[in-house]
Amino acid sequence: MNGTTNNDEQSARAAAQMRQQVLGAPDATCGKCGGEYFENVFKVKRVSALMSPNGQETMVPMQTLRCLECGNILSEISDFSAPAQEESAEEPVPKAKNM
Ligand SMILES: [Zn+2]
Repeated sequence: MNGTTNNDEQSARAAAQMRQQVLGAPDATCGKCGGEYFENVFKVKRVSALMSPNGQETMVPMQTLRCLECGNILSEISDFSAPAQEESAEEPVPKAKNM
């Protein structure tokens, strides 16, 4: 009997399931060039002494993504190209005419 193993197995299974779901999701691509690969880059915000809790100017790194192909910075979902998916998913349900 080993409870921890059981727990590990469960979380491992959940992780595998999550991975499966992510792998099945469509690839996000660069809104400029359609590139599929990105690297982590940081934008640094200077928080002024007036706004900073400790009264000193602070640097706050904000992680964002940069397209490896064209160097485009993708910080928001709208920076990516729209997913090339079947439209039925987002389309409003057409009015039923079978009445
Ligand atoms: Zn790009």
